[in-house]
Amino acid sequence: MIDLRSDTVTRPTPQMREAMLTAPVGDDVYAEDPSITELERYGAELLGHEASLFCVSGSLANLLGVWLSSEPGTEVLCDVRAHIVRAEMGAHAVLHGVTTRTWTSSDGVADVDTICALISDRTNPYLVATAAVEIENTHNFGGGTVWSLPQVGAVAQACHERGVRLHLDGARLGNACAETGATLAQYAGLADTATLCLSKGLGAPVGTLLAGSAADIERARVQRKRLGGGWRQAGMLAAAGMYALRHHLDRLGDDHVAARAFAAEVAKKAPRAVGHVPTNIVVVDTGALGAATVCAAAQAAGVVVSALDAHTIRAVTHLDVTEAECVQAGAVIADILSAQASTAA
Ligand SMILES: *Cc1c(COP(=O)(O)O)cnc(C)c1O
Repeated sequence: MIDLRSDTVTRPTPQMREAMLTAPVGDDVYAEDPSITELERYGAELLGHEASLFCVSGSLANLLGVWLSSEPGTEVLCDVRAHIVRAEMGAHAVLHGVTTRTWTSSDGVADVDTICALISDRTNPYLVATAAVEIENTHNFGGGTVWSLPQVGAVAQACHERGVRLHLDGARLGNACAETGATLAQYAGLADTATLCLSKGLGAPVGTLLAGSAADIERARVQRKRLGGGWRQAGMLAAAGMYALRHHLDRLGDDHVAARAFAAEVAKKAPRAVGHVPTNIVVVDTGALGAATVCAAAQAAGVVVSALDAHTIRAVTHLDVTEAECVQAGAVIADILSAQASTAA
């Protein structure tokens, strides 16, 4: 099976497993796990903040980042397809009393005026006060879209002029860096809080870093414990994350090359099904066939992809698939789509 459902499906490499086995560990609730402490120090440095916190998932890191920037009864503004509103099970509302209001965009990237138009200030007694803006880079459900550094900078400046905080969901921030040449710190440093997933394209089995000021990260550490997310001897997991940062950040661009090779193969027989591929996520329009039919046919032919909605599928490239396998998968999808086209004709 060529598994292109997500870049979360990677398994630790032999070298990563070796790093995990030999990691020094201790009780992290007592701040005694040297591997976690080292990962959090290195993560803070990479992300251009004073401190970082190792979290079990990107969802937990986002939950804590948004919590740091809001209070119950305030709102967070984000894109209509943001991970925080679509894929975090309503956690920000259920657990922290925060509501969201969304802007609409074609691909997850909005201009600063669209965002500013939604901000409601705290002096208005009739409207929910906007506490924070949240943006995603790259934008997952928008199709792996990249925000440029100036675009994020403009949003950050507008937020700060209005006393509104900025949380950056950087689950795939390394993929944005691979395209723009900006550093993780340049992007993340613009936001009050920023995340980076170790378990997506970076290939670690578990973990996301949340970066921010030392004071914010200390508050987040307490809230993480309150939510049941304190670690004990999790240094083995941190060591995997450390290995990922040291060895897999620089290769993320390879996944983009593989994604474009996949899309080019699809386009040979179904040119209108794919558009521009910004990073490692390819969105394929399945036309009249529908996403469910294409997913099932692809699976029968040894390729697993996921449905984004009724008419589009998503293929995500990663560390565990070669460019040749991506081309092979693209050919499978192309055959399914073109068989449909010739039947219709
Ligand atoms: C995957 C992802 C997350 C975090 O997901 P977890 O499964 O909770 O680790 C957050 N934001 C985006 C944009 C993602 O793609």
